[in-house]
Amino acid sequence: MQIKKGIAVSPGVAISQALVLDAEDQPVPRRTVSASHVSIEKKRLEAALAESGKEIESLRQQAQTQLGPELAKIFGVHLGMLQDPALREEFNQLISRDRVTAEYAVFAVMRDLAHRFENLQARHFRERAADIWDLERRVVGHLIGKTRKGLADLTDETVLIAHDLTPSQTATLDKNKVVALATDKGGLTSHTAIMAHAMGIPAIVGLEDITSLINTGDTVIIDGDRGLVIIDPDAAQLMEYRQNVERSAELATSRDEMARLPAVTTDGTPISLMGNIEFPSEIEAAIKKGAVGIGLYRTEFLFLASETEPSEDEQCAAYREAIHALKGLPLTIRTLDLGADKLTDDQHQDDSLERNPFLGCRSIRLCLQNLPLFKTQFRAILRASVDGPVRIMFPMISNIMELRQAKMILNDVMEDLEDEGIPYRQDIPVGIMIEVPSAALQAKALARECQFFSIGTNDLIQYTVAVDRGNERIASLYSAAHPAVIYLIKEVIRAANRARIDVSLCGEMAGEPEFVMLLLGLGLRNLSVTPPALPEVKRIIRSLGINQCQRVARKACGLDTDREVTNYLRDEVRKIVPDALGGRSTEQ
Ligand code: PEP
Ligand code: MG
Repeated sequence: MQIKKGIAVSPGVAISQALVLDAEDQPVPRRTVSASHVSIEKKRLEAALAESGKEIESLRQQAQTQLGPELAKIFGVHLGMLQDPALREEFNQLISRDRVTAEYAVFAVMRDLAHRFENLQARHFRERAADIWDLERRVVGHLIGKTRKGLADLTDETVLIAHDLTPSQTATLDKNKVVALATDKGGLTSHTAIMAHAMGIPAIVGLEDITSLINTGDTVIIDGDRGLVIIDPDAAQLMEYRQNVERSAELATSRDEMARLPAVTTDGTPISLMGNIEFPSEIEAAIKKGAVGIGLYRTEFLFLASETEPSEDEQCAAYREAIHALKGLPLTIRTLDLGADKLTDDQHQDDSLERNPFLGCRSIRLCLQNLPLFKTQFRAILRASVDGPVRIMFPMISNIMELRQAKMILNDVMEDLEDEGIPYRQDIPVGIMIEVPSAALQAKALARECQFFSIGTNDLIQYTVAVDRGNERIASLYSAAHPAVIYLIKEVIRAANRARIDVSLCGEMAGEPEFVMLLLGLGLRNLSVTPPALPEVKRIIRSLGINQCQRVARKACGLDTDREVTNYLRDEVRKIVPDALGGRSTEQ
């Protein structure tokens, strides 16, 4: 048994067999297997070598006819290496001696060989190193490719273990089969973490080397409440966690009953609790959990989940589906927030990659530089807007000119629709996300030019504290309780209230039990949260008085460190709802 701690990003407990997904562009992790598994690894190796051989032979023939004998020789060299009995013997020996996986054996032997060639003086030899790496990728690709293909048609419940997952990989996971996630990389509000939370499955990220500690088929426990991965648990641990799973199922049912009750404080102040979604198909579940609308629809996931850019009609159909699923409840559609960690396949292949993508051409900046893309989305939203109460929200506004430009383009599109006689809602409310410190500091001016704000703390934290939200190495610095972040939130709410425009908060912070008192105390009356967190947030709201919240917010605003703020808020919420924080403790 081995226990590993990471960053808990989605609560709950799952016990199941692991499926380890190796990343094609990463070094292969060193994983060992049991003695009885050694022969299986050798068979896997044989099969991968045979498949690679067939592939290279067909490439050689193709090159021979299309490119000529000189270039075909390269594949002849690859075939020669692949069939070299000494090399095969080295792979097999490593598997037998060190009981490592076939993919690791190939990787390790080929890496050593490539390094030897790289260190030779003659250019000819150094170039051979590239051939060795090429061959290594091919054979390893056959070995790990099987797992990747298997991901699409899983038959059993699985805990997915990966180096990292892109948001589009997470978006296309079979939610009925993947019962939990654990990754080497990632931070609290990385988009993979957000997706896992939305899927309602336990997830732990930032585990650093979990892919090298677990083999496909191992039994693992994922404790998403405490951020623990337990590998090969003993009988006592299994029993304890199985009871835990049963208890949490009972608790979940009682929390779901909350959905039917209004979100109102003990003194009668109503709070509007909405849901965040990535796909219209999530709306039904969000309403079941008690959402009274969707405060954030991340439309970029439509692009991430599809291989080609969705057309105007396809986008319009998705927005209509969302509107109809809401049956008259409000929907805030956020325009494309692509870029940074949310890249489409085309963007992934683009070799002009930015050095600092979170500070680069993402989100509204990308839309303003791609007007056809932006206009198509506007047309789709406006056409759908006649079907129900829709608002448009621009992400990542960092100055007023961006807002003005975006509104101008929206007006152009409205005029086009008018000319074409296509109906749309002329007074569609337009708002912005406040998620860049410059926008927070300029909230007063921005409030004069739009109809609502939604505070995006996931990004606001990373830009205020200069901490990449997806980087596990500095995850402890990423904190919603940082006094500078709280100061900015307070000022944004104040600016919105003075301008009499609507303000809500849609970052993950809104779904964290310890922050509910602070946010209500700072004056927020609208929160948009990941749907699985709705019942718990509502349970806390229904136990609080606004006066209490204001007192807590005043005190929290006077504290100097995020740790003091976190500890104070945890203590306060526990006084009112003792089991609000599950396994989380006060930080030392
Ligand atoms: C945010 O930044 O807080 C937010 C809600 O948007 P996203 O997580 O999609 O960047
Ligand atoms: Mg954001």
